[in-house]
Amino acid sequence: MNVLVTGGAGYIGSHLLRALESAGHTPIVYDNLTKGHRQSVADAKLIVGDITDGRKLRSAMDENKIELVIHLAALADVADSIEKPDEYFRCNTIGTMTLLEAMRDCGAERMVFSSTAAVYGRPKRTSIEENDPFDPINPYGASKVCTELMLRAYAEAYGLGSVSLRYFNVAGADPTGEIGEDHDPETHLVPLILQVALGTRQKVRIFGDDYDTPDGTCIRDYIHVCDLAQAHIAAVEAIEPARTKVYNLGNGEGFSVKQVIAAARRVTGHDIPAEVAPRRPGDPPRLVASWKRAAAELGWCPKYPQLETIISHAWAWHEAHPTGYAQ
Ligand code: UDP
Repeated sequence: MNVLVTGGAGYIGSHLLRALESAGHTPIVYDNLTKGHRQSVADAKLIVGDITDGRKLRSAMDENKIELVIHLAALADVADSIEKPDEYFRCNTIGTMTLLEAMRDCGAERMVFSSTAAVYGRPKRTSIEENDPFDPINPYGASKVCTELMLRAYAEAYGLGSVSLRYFNVAGADPTGEIGEDHDPETHLVPLILQVALGTRQKVRIFGDDYDTPDGTCIRDYIHVCDLAQAHIAAVEAIEPARTKVYNLGNGEGFSVKQVIAAARRVTGHDIPAEVAPRRPGDPPRLVASWKRAAAELGWCPKYPQLETIISHAWAWHEAHPTGYAQ
């Protein structure tokens, strides 16, 4: 099946393209390339366009006979979203509405949507379940909540079928080492740590060590990007008309910032100097997924649940591509 992948030239998108191709689908990438990389798309068809351009989206869908969209395109930096909420709501919320309208016009009635653990805010439970309430504490999370609510309304009114996948912390790289994470500026913990190991950055800053966690640093649930990609393939099969389904995607185990740095030291054999810095605005202390629902309903199970495996695959990519796709 032809599948339109918005944001398909990004980090998650590039891994998803390979998973789609292996599953026998034909991905068509729609990406404005402001953050994505043309090289990461490899042989897939690429349409350069913005998510807020309804006309271009319509012609992309009509020309490629699209029935299903995997919607990854978004701005996704928590701290940035606090400084520029307008950009986040414009791209993530209004952009998604533009896409949904284009889909209605073109008769595309199925979507897999990339949502986030940030919809939960500061969860009360240690293992977050999908029925836990929305309570975002930053505009990024709020922009994704808006979209999930829009998907519910479109299901009821127009029969749209969707699956929202709430990603926890995505890391790692394809085990071949051919594709991986390359953001500019880089803000994510694992690639920043590995840049220090490579010597292209002097030290890692630990954003706060006074949280109410065992070592005082924030706890996150890290999931391998290939496992995440595979869940999208299962989600494609799980879509039902006029229904919205939601799944957490994580490994169910939390690691503190200090534990991630320690694991990276073991994997790389480098010192990786670190210093404590002030808390980063918008960071909840602890986010750990229950992925029971994805296991039960999607038949999904992580293939690379170990943090050290995730970091070692990322390390292989960074070592081979110290300047990312630019070299
Ligand atoms: N973090 C950090 N130093 C950095 C980048 C991130 O201490 O230079 C922390 C951040 O505060 C959070 C965790 O690492 O607790 C993961 O952050 P990241 O930006 O990778 O993902 P997020 O949780 O924001 O989706």
